Amino acid sequence: MKKFSSLIFLFFTLIILSSCQEVIYTDIVTTMFPQYDFAQAIVGDDYTVSLLLPPGAEIHDYEVTSQDLAKIKESKLFIFTSLEIDNWIGDVETIGGKDTFVMNLSESFVREPLIYGDILDPLDEEGIHASELHFWTDPTIAVQLIDAILEQIIALDPQLEAQLRARATTYINEIVELDTQIKNYMIDHEYLGSTIYFAGHNALGAFGQRYGLNIVSLFEDFKPDVDLTSNELISFTNIVKQTNTHYLFIEELVFPKAANTIVNQLASDGYDLELLEFHGYHNISSSDYEKGVTYRDLLEQNFLHIQTVLMSTI
Ligand SMILES: [Zn+2]
Repeated sequence: MKKFSSLIFLFFTLIILSSCQEVIYTDIVTTMFPQYDFAQAIVGDDYTVSLLLPPGAEIHDYEVTSQDLAKIKESKLFIFTSLEIDNWIGDVETIGGKDTFVMNLSESFVREPLIYGDILDPLDEEGIHASELHFWTDPTIAVQLIDAILEQIIALDPQLEAQLRARATTYINEIVELDTQIKNYMIDHEYLGSTIYFAGHNALGAFGQRYGLNIVSLFEDFKPDVDLTSNELISFTNIVKQTNTHYLFIEELVFPKAANTIVNQLASDGYDLELLEFHGYHNISSSDYEKGVTYRDLLEQNFLHIQTVLMSTI
């Protein structure tokens, strides 16, 4: 009985502690890494920006807390990705406070017609192009998002316009320069239409579309952190051997349990398979967050990894 009552005491203490947790106010609240990075690059020290998703956490597993909701209500600007990804939002009209401007990123850009057609951007089981859900992985769309966020922040304080615009232009130029470099690399080396293999959820469709890269997920509905059945293991190791690839891309922030099993199985057959990260920008690790790693940095890392794989196929 004593044990039971002390457990009850502990339970209520935890409830009180969690409800007293202070909400740290920020001017701008974002749900995901790309908009956090874009807003931060624009505002510098003029405004505070926060990311609801703790560094290292997976966006698709995120659950909103009451502190998060309070933070959104107190903010000047709340930027979310889309109602499909941030599906906890429910009603856009009531998510913010009376002075909060709510911005839906998925409505803040115009999509160019698909350059490489449907082949490089397959439909998922709901009939949606993977690139439509993960639109931010196309750097030309990222640039449009930076512009849209810039206009919104200028509206908060028009007096800061010159410095906000200058910072946005600098960042956009950096991304455009790298994007052009990647695009030219793919054309100059005749890599358009090349295939790479990915053991993750289909997040890089828009990226593949932009650079003419065919990104094949090892199987539909891939769960990177679960045990593979023996049939799955045989089928995937066979795919890898048949395609004669020695690199497999994995997604960020998920322990690649399934991919490691494939690597180990292939190693025991004397076949070398190396894992490389293909960053979908959903969120960054705690150490990258501390270092101030940006969207542009992650784009460059993806480019370096892709070069490694494409060069090995010659
Ligand atoms: Zn995703």
